[in-house]
Amino acid sequence: MSTLFLRTLRDDPADAEVASHRLMVRAGYIRRAAPGGFSWLPLGWKVLRNVERVVREEMDRAGFQEVHFPALLPREPYDLTNRWTEYGDNLFRLKDRRGNDFLLAPTHEEMFTLLVKDLYSSYKDFPLHLYQIQTKFRDEARPRAGLLRGREFVMKDSYSFDIDDAGLDRSYQEHREAYIRLFERLGLPFVIVSAMSGAMGGSASEEFLAPLEIGEDTFVSCGSCGYAANVEAFVTPVPDPIPLDGLPPAVVHDTPNTPTIATLVAHVNAVPELRHPEREWTAADTLKNVIVLLRQPDGAAVPLAIGLPGDRDVDLKRLEAQVAPAEVEPFTDESFAAHPVLAKGYIGPGALGLTQSSGIRYLVDPRVVAGTSWITGADTSGSHVIGLVAGRDFTPDGTIEAAEIRDGDVCPSCGSTVEIARGVEIGHIFQLGRKYAEALELTVQNDQGRPVTPTMGSYGVGVSRCVAAIAESTLDDIGLCWPREISPADVHVVVAGKDGGPQLGAAETLSADLEAAGLAVLLDDRAGVSPGVRFKDAELIGIPTIVVVGRGITDESNPTIEVKDRRSGERVDVALPDAVAHLVATCAH
Ligand code: ATP
Ligand code: MG
Repeated sequence: MSTLFLRTLRDDPADAEVASHRLMVRAGYIRRAAPGGFSWLPLGWKVLRNVERVVREEMDRAGFQEVHFPALLPREPYDLTNRWTEYGDNLFRLKDRRGNDFLLAPTHEEMFTLLVKDLYSSYKDFPLHLYQIQTKFRDEARPRAGLLRGREFVMKDSYSFDIDDAGLDRSYQEHREAYIRLFERLGLPFVIVSAMSGAMGGSASEEFLAPLEIGEDTFVSCGSCGYAANVEAFVTPVPDPIPLDGLPPAVVHDTPNTPTIATLVAHVNAVPELRHPEREWTAADTLKNVIVLLRQPDGAAVPLAIGLPGDRDVDLKRLEAQVAPAEVEPFTDESFAAHPVLAKGYIGPGALGLTQSSGIRYLVDPRVVAGTSWITGADTSGSHVIGLVAGRDFTPDGTIEAAEIRDGDVCPSCGSTVEIARGVEIGHIFQLGRKYAEALELTVQNDQGRPVTPTMGSYGVGVSRCVAAIAESTLDDIGLCWPREISPADVHVVVAGKDGGPQLGAAETLSADLEAAGLAVLLDDRAGVSPGVRFKDAELIGIPTIVVVGRGITDESNPTIEVKDRRSGERVDVALPDAVAHLVATCAH
């Protein structure tokens, strides 16, 4: 370490929101170079390369072949799939000196499809699996949490090509199994959840999430049946419709100063003639109507009204997943001014819908089935309607999965209840189908000599994100704590003696012997650094086995070293002559 390009820091970096980021900066693994861009120092680079190695080994073991594309790509292929536009602000676009459009690739479906089109023409060449490990670029709106969400990051992306759907199913399964093996090897706890395929298009899709509080994804899981889904892909169980016969009529009432759900509920419970005949009204009896602007990739903005039970908020991520590639923007006072029929705070289904007075598309939560009766806005300031029945008094344009999901909601798979937790998306596998092959006119001959369009799968692992996710899942109060497979070294040798003492020489000899035995060693031989600081740094850096060469070696009859397990803190004294064999055995576990 006396020559290692490393400075450990005592203080947390000011801009670090999560522990893994703080510790990786403090322990000298990474440095911030740009918003969402990091430089890798020697220790960090080793960890990244180790994660890459595991990913590569598992891809190779599955029989997938590694290729490598440029990151700087021409516009044309991305025009053919419309992603030049659809990717919106997330795409880094640039021009060359001749004025030609280029992009920094956010993902490479187009290029892989074109490469296969270039070289293959017969069904006999399939199935085919190709992958690369490469730097990707996305102009993320909110780069965050260090390596977890960068604007420049390392991804492993693979693509499968098959002639028929059964082949795609097999390829998808092979990838799924390879991912399970690789995340297990990385020592990264994960759950597999159903997912939306987002801007990629396609059908079957699952995400691998590392269950971590700091994650940006929310997923539901059911303890009874094993159902697990990203909230974006959660499908609300739809209640049975209620017969319309005999439901009381809708009546409009004055409800002054009740522009919020809370004030409305308080009002209808307080005014005797508005009270529920048997119980208190709750927010769940109200139909809340939220209006947003959908900004299309071409820049046009279209309003959308969402009707949902008033005890639930709109979940922005769920909404965004439904309306992608459009982005969701607030419906501002200006937008209200442009739609005078909307009475802010008192908007109701009377004004909403493509054929209603506002002309605004109106989608409701799937719970708003025919026969459900609601307290909702009467489209005049200061008034609401009680008993407005879906399917009798109003007919929305459709339904939308945009309401928040809560602990205890009904499991769509078994009817039991679901739990909510947060996670970091570390991998994503999905069946693309023929979208890209069709757009880029990839056809090959089938066994009857007729042209067919292959079907594709696309599979990603966030390699640099995994580094942070592993750090986050394994760290403790005193520092990083790497799983052996990806640790920057096997053993951290700490010299615990005065400068000039016999410990340094002994530690150097031991380190050389360990290296000769095939172990990677980090030797703290820094002069002028106290043993206390060395211990603290060893704990911070997080190599799984720490060896202390201290006073024990001066016992001539029985020289010993101390071997400490970084995770458990367990220490054992080991006789110096046995040290190499002991450590080789320890590191083999
Ligand atoms: P997210 O929902 O987190 O933005 P995504 O669904 O857009 O990710 P994919 O297109 O599925 O990401 O990319 C494959 C993998 O690349 C993801 O599973 C994730 O691990 C990783 N990844 C995506 N965006 C980033 C980023 N900005 N920084 C680091 N890793 C990323
Ligand atoms: Mg994804």
